[in-house]
Amino acid sequence: MRRGTNLPRVGGFNQRVVLDRIRRATDGVSRVELAADTGLSLQTISNIVARLLARRLVVEGERKVEGRGKPRTMLHLDPQGAHALGVHVDPVVVTAVLTDLDGGVVGRRIFPTPSGPDALVAAVAESARELVDEADIAPGGVLGLGVAAPGPIDMPSGRVINPPLLDGWADVPLRDELAGATGLAVLLEKDVSAAMVAELWRGNRMHEGTSLFFYLGFGVAAAVAHDGELAAGTSRNAGEIGHLIVDSDGPRCGCGNRGCIGVCASPATLVAEAVERGILDVATPRATPRELDAALTAVCRAAAAGDESAGEVLRTSARRVAHGITLVADLVDADVVVFGGPSWARLAPVYLPAVRAELAAHATLREMHAVEVLGSAVGDDVGAVGAASLVLDDAFAPRPSELIGRSGAVLP
Ligand SMILES: [Zn+2]
Repeated sequence: MRRGTNLPRVGGFNQRVVLDRIRRATDGVSRVELAADTGLSLQTISNIVARLLARRLVVEGERKVEGRGKPRTMLHLDPQGAHALGVHVDPVVVTAVLTDLDGGVVGRRIFPTPSGPDALVAAVAESARELVDEADIAPGGVLGLGVAAPGPIDMPSGRVINPPLLDGWADVPLRDELAGATGLAVLLEKDVSAAMVAELWRGNRMHEGTSLFFYLGFGVAAAVAHDGELAAGTSRNAGEIGHLIVDSDGPRCGCGNRGCIGVCASPATLVAEAVERGILDVATPRATPRELDAALTAVCRAAAAGDESAGEVLRTSARRVAHGITLVADLVDADVVVFGGPSWARLAPVYLPAVRAELAAHATLREMHAVEVLGSAVGDDVGAVGAASLVLDDAFAPRPSELIGRSGAVLP
């Protein structure tokens, strides 16, 4: 159960099911089709649609004639019916977005991560104000603010515990401080979980089956969703795969072992290996996250330009990561693997073929079903859009698990 939120919700489960069906119908859907698809009576559908029209979440479109029956009025989502703010806190940059009801980005702010939580809260509050002012949204038109932050996160209290690479961030009550600074209801989630919610909200491929999201940034993490619903774990911190050993001869990790997946994919390791091979000249032990990020870009550019040595650095990392992903995909029996996060766009040309090849050759379940490997459908903003999607998801998405009470009984 999510705690610490008082987001306005769009009504009962049936109403969410109907809105969700309309949201996914790219060419619109009629009341008759809604009744057939959802199993609800036409009268119930008419009542729900009337409420959604009154709230301006849905609009009536063209009239469509089918066979001899009466023309049917098609229903569409009204993207302007509601908005959400999303913020992704990364060690290098903060990305803030305002999205419409469909998760489309209406406005965006990107700024270097301020040092310390107080400066961050002030900067986020200012960006949020600017984004809402620029979009000219009526007061109350923003449902809330979602925040994606590095984990682990203490969900009941909304505190960020001790993220690596963020100085001065030990035990920060980020949710309440942002709520105080913005006056908005705030939802806080781990970055990888938020990114998965963005893919579920914006993408169309993951509403059935088991999906994996791999987040590649300064850390590596995974999220799992089943039938379109995030499996967040007991404390909503699932997905900490950073110390999964993928190469026992690999680089040394801070945990004392060698070849953990986190260290094999970290910008610090890739840059250090590039320095060792004479591709770059960066004082890696003292480099800031921003300097490492810029150096990673340089390694990827060199590889793309045909530098064989830079290519080998990336290919070695990709092989190791691909091995780990194959293990995790087998563990949860995934049929879709999606990559995203701040490092993804740069690593994709090398990582994507490596992961596809490894899964096709070595996944234990390759005889049972194919595993599709994709880059994020949302793109570079996936963390921030994910944060906003948390708000939309909390307000609008139907969750089958909500129908099951604590005793296991199905609620009315
Ligand atoms: Zn480790």
